[in-house]
Amino acid sequence: MTQDFNSRIIAPGGTIGMIGNGQLGRMAALAAAELGYRVHVFGPGHNSPTQQVCAQATVAAYDDHDALRTFAANVDVVTFEFENVPHDSVKLLAGLVPVRPGWQCLHISQNRLREKTFCNDHGIATAPFAAVRSFDDLTNAVARLGRPSVLKTTELGYDGKGQVKITDDTDLASAWTDMNGAEAILEGFVTFEREISVIVARGIDGKTACFCAVENRHANHILDVTIAPAPIRPALRQQAEHIACLLAEKMEFVGLLAVEMFVTRDGAILVNEVAPRPHNSGHWTIDACVTSQFEQFIRAVCGLPLGDPAHHSEAEMKNLLGDDIDAWQAILSDPDAKLHLYGKDEAKPGRKMGHVTWLKTTRPNSAL
Ligand code: AMP
Repeated sequence: MTQDFNSRIIAPGGTIGMIGNGQLGRMAALAAAELGYRVHVFGPGHNSPTQQVCAQATVAAYDDHDALRTFAANVDVVTFEFENVPHDSVKLLAGLVPVRPGWQCLHISQNRLREKTFCNDHGIATAPFAAVRSFDDLTNAVARLGRPSVLKTTELGYDGKGQVKITDDTDLASAWTDMNGAEAILEGFVTFEREISVIVARGIDGKTACFCAVENRHANHILDVTIAPAPIRPALRQQAEHIACLLAEKMEFVGLLAVEMFVTRDGAILVNEVAPRPHNSGHWTIDACVTSQFEQFIRAVCGLPLGDPAHHSEAEMKNLLGDDIDAWQAILSDPDAKLHLYGKDEAKPGRKMGHVTWLKTTRPNSAL
């Protein structure tokens, strides 16, 4: 692959290939359209949130190599709104068209062991961890890391799925059975003061631009509320932002990288996981920043100059899960609220249907 291929700038008017067709792809496609791009989405399932708003769609499985080849021939660059795409598929695309971020970055972020090892190798702290590939590994890891600790599948877990907390009462044999034979990681339990995240963009020229660190509060393992900026000391915020930039540089990342971190009670920052794409904790940027995370994502992936990530308002974002969206009329009546809906047909419990952002963090009359 030539250097030219990787450093190609995709000018407005070009076509961005988007792997994954959920709400992140939808909001990215809307931002791309504002900059004059067409988006061609690739993913399974008809009438997806992304398909509804983009120029072209290929409905196919992520391992359909024929469909991927045809897709690559019809786009100028490929990016992802969903990272759990088979490795072979990403490598296939990378031989045909610029893929941003590159397959190496996806490979790291798809697996919790690789992710944490990469962080530690570059001097970035995480919770202590051990690889668990057998029941014996689990017994040894629990002896080393103690209880409580958290057992997670290394791949394909999200929103707390594929996780078991190991407490004094946990039967290790059944915890191991719950992993269904998948490779796992045991993490020491972090008694955190809060969870934060930082989203950083890195362009093809290596320049980075960082959104301010935000605080994330979860309910039932799913992001509930993001508070921007995070109410933490400026020095801590700067440290978190530095960690995100450092990771993006060390990964030679091109695109948008979200870094989730814990702030411990004694003020240390530990990286929990990274996502190589726009992130739920960056939705507030649509309404409160000079450049949204979605516009920044498109700029980075197309090789354009990055925009200003500064926020002009403080904000609070709340996810609308399942039938939370029934409150849409009340939300629209709140002058501080900005409503975003994802066009999903069925409001299943826990399903992300939309979000609402309040500017200036004033919510006295909010509907929720
Ligand atoms: P994850 O899928 O790794 O993002 O984990 C989901 C949530 O579980 C996190 O947002 C934390 O609230 C909690 N969690 C995950 N790992 C740990 C840990 N090692 N110690 C304490 N809480 C954790």
